[in-house]
Amino acid sequence: DKIKQGLKRTTDAVSEQFSDIMSTFVKIDADSLEQLEEALILSDIGATVAAEATEKVEDIAKHQRIDTPLALRCVLKDVLSDMMDHDTELHLDTKPAVILVIGVNGVGKTTSIGKIASRYVAEGKKVMLSAADTFRAAAADQLEIWAKRAGADIVRHGEGSDPAAVVFDSIAAAKARGSDVIIIDTAGRLHNKQNLMNELGKIDRIIDRELPGAARETLLVLDATTGQNAVYQAESFNKVAKLTGIILTKLDGTAKGGIVVAISAGLGVPVKLVGVGEGIDDLMDFNRSEFLEALLP
Ligand code: GDP
Repeated sequence: DKIKQGLKRTTDAVSEQFSDIMSTFVKIDADSLEQLEEALILSDIGATVAAEATEKVEDIAKHQRIDTPLALRCVLKDVLSDMMDHDTELHLDTKPAVILVIGVNGVGKTTSIGKIASRYVAEGKKVMLSAADTFRAAAADQLEIWAKRAGADIVRHGEGSDPAAVVFDSIAAAKARGSDVIIIDTAGRLHNKQNLMNELGKIDRIIDRELPGAARETLLVLDATTGQNAVYQAESFNKVAKLTGIILTKLDGTAKGGIVVAISAGLGVPVKLVGVGEGIDDLMDFNRSEFLEALLP
């Protein structure tokens, strides 16, 4: 299936890191634990998460026999699954619900919004896109192309206009048309944290005022091919916005898919959606066990 295909490069890389320990493993001891930790670090799940996972495996070994590679693999999957944030679903049970999408340029934000819109339209829902990245005219143009492709409505203003005004108008339009979900594209200028915080704060207040009690998601889009840099971005954005989830794109183009674990376990923000290609259908719900099965087959 798609997630397996999308993770192929990661799976191959992780298998290689684990090939030594998996071919010689007979018991949990200082040597095998060290080997395990090293394999985990080299699989891009991050040093902190790797150390914690290794410790947990050691604890489990005190009351459970782990004496085959298969047993080790099973325990490791359980440990990693437990460490990752469990809440991987989107919660959108009001009409309209609001998805605020943030992330720096080039990570796949517009594409992901288009894919989400297309999915909801296919489910028979009415989708309103809000082009609140007014910093670049090209951003709204791109979003408009995706709106047409997906069959969604869109509200946009001119370049340089107030993002909060775009959001205000989108909410009014969504109410008038009976939209089920509003997806807001924002400018993610991380190098200007105070501005970004002010802008997101203002958008937040408009949504709270115009749609009190609405179900909301704030999703950060990260490019998996950037590896550790994506983890840093997640940490930085997590300080300026109340993230409810991550969209990790371009998993198909990287061997560094292990960063899913680094983000979900290390940051405590769940990865909710993953991009595995450029096509309109190439965005999947994230499922921990499916992912770990592909990661450690
Ligand atoms: P934005 O600047 O964040 O809005 O980024 P775009 O949505 O324009 O995407 C940047 C590039 O990444 C485009 O060429 C997309 O086709 C590509 N892209 C986005 N998501 C994925 C994905 O999951 N896999 C692959 N292979 N490419 C993707």
